[in-house]
Amino acid sequence: MVRALIIGGGIAGPVTALALRKAGIDSVVFEAYPTGADDIGAFLTIMHNGLDALRAIDVEHVVVDHSFAADGVDVYDGAGVLVSENRWGNGVTGPRTLRRADLYRALHDELRAQGIAVEHGKRLVGVEGGVRAVFEDGSTAEGDLLVGADGLHSATRRIIDPQAPRPRYTGLNIFYGYAEGLEPTTPPGRYHMIAGSQGFFGHSTAPDGTTWWFARTPGPERHGGTPEDHRAHAAAFFADDTSPALEIIRAEGEIHASNAYDVPTTPVWHTDRVVLVGDAAHAASPAAGQGASMALEDSVTLARCLRDRAEPRQAFEVYERLRRERVEALVGMSAGLGANRSVSTNSFYAHHIEWGDPVQL
Ligand SMILES: Cc1cc2nc3c(=O)[nH]c(=O)nc-3n(C[C@H](O)[C@H](O)[C@H](O)COP(=O)(O)OP(=O)(O)OC[C@H]3O[C@@H](n4cnc5c(N)ncnc54)[C@H](O)[C@@H]3O)c2cc1C
Repeated sequence: MVRALIIGGGIAGPVTALALRKAGIDSVVFEAYPTGADDIGAFLTIMHNGLDALRAIDVEHVVVDHSFAADGVDVYDGAGVLVSENRWGNGVTGPRTLRRADLYRALHDELRAQGIAVEHGKRLVGVEGGVRAVFEDGSTAEGDLLVGADGLHSATRRIIDPQAPRPRYTGLNIFYGYAEGLEPTTPPGRYHMIAGSQGFFGHSTAPDGTTWWFARTPGPERHGGTPEDHRAHAAAFFADDTSPALEIIRAEGEIHASNAYDVPTTPVWHTDRVVLVGDAAHAASPAAGQGASMALEDSVTLARCLRDRAEPRQAFEVYERLRRERVEALVGMSAGLGANRSVSTNSFYAHHIEWGDPVQL
């Protein structure tokens, strides 16, 4: 039986393992960290297309059971004027918001339930022959193929192409927070977004009454800093606007800071035995809220290709042809959104994967 080595236990890695299992292919997941990746405190929204991909392999519950509905967005300008209203779904199959840590946990619980092994503390540093993974601790693992699901700063990407582009800083700092002690700041399941005069802000009310919020603000990369530093820095961008942003940022509660990067194009997606999925292949800035959903589509599509083609190389070629154009368009669109250009994201949501259909070009 074919054995796949999957590098990365974030989102694409576990979902590739689950999809391969459904395709009759064994795998082991190797994760560098004892738990998950960076940005563990942040939250994310899985859109219709991401849920559709999970549904194709019968694991939609990993998101639905740990999330709340995000079925509409109202956009305001910095003067408090309603600019647009977007209604998405019925709250179950439509977008869902959840903490990244909860998603990682639910995915790993599902791996365990399906008997798929995960090895922690295994940081990939090399790939030899066809195919042996070499880890930082000196250990190795052998398989028939290797899937690089190791995220934005993918080692696999650089191993298969030392000239591969490095992640590009988009010029935006990202802040995430959970504000406590406020009256509900939105109707249930609704996001309010504020295209402010100096920054972009979004918030929604979780079922427990906490306001989950994020802010995107322009500036150089920021590293380190205390929660108070983050709060003061983010707040300054919304001080001149008429919006609830300032009060929400200043409220009690967790705050996290990070920077937004993207990888617009990765020339080499695969070799004969090694292939990239998710952020390792194409990373979008967070503006479109689609990076994870695209990773989920990749994972399920790759598994269908491996199911339907005799040789890994043939499967990887079909996979790349099915995926590259769509994901690169998404990265470009997200970069446009980050730069506050008006771009429609709706066309990306309708994607559907029919698991039982043979893959076709
Ligand atoms: C602030 C922020 C907000 C976002 N919000 C959204 C959102 O709302 N909706 C959305 O769809 N997307 C969002 N995204 C994008 C989304 O998080 C990514 O697209 C998604 O996590 C990609 O999944 P992945 O599995 O490819 O990578 P990751 O989730 O990054 O997982 C990669 C895994 O590989 C591991 N790893 C790394 N290197 C190695 C190695 N050498 N060996 C072994 N393991 C390794 C890491 O520890 C990690 O666990 C956001 C991103 C950011 C930064």
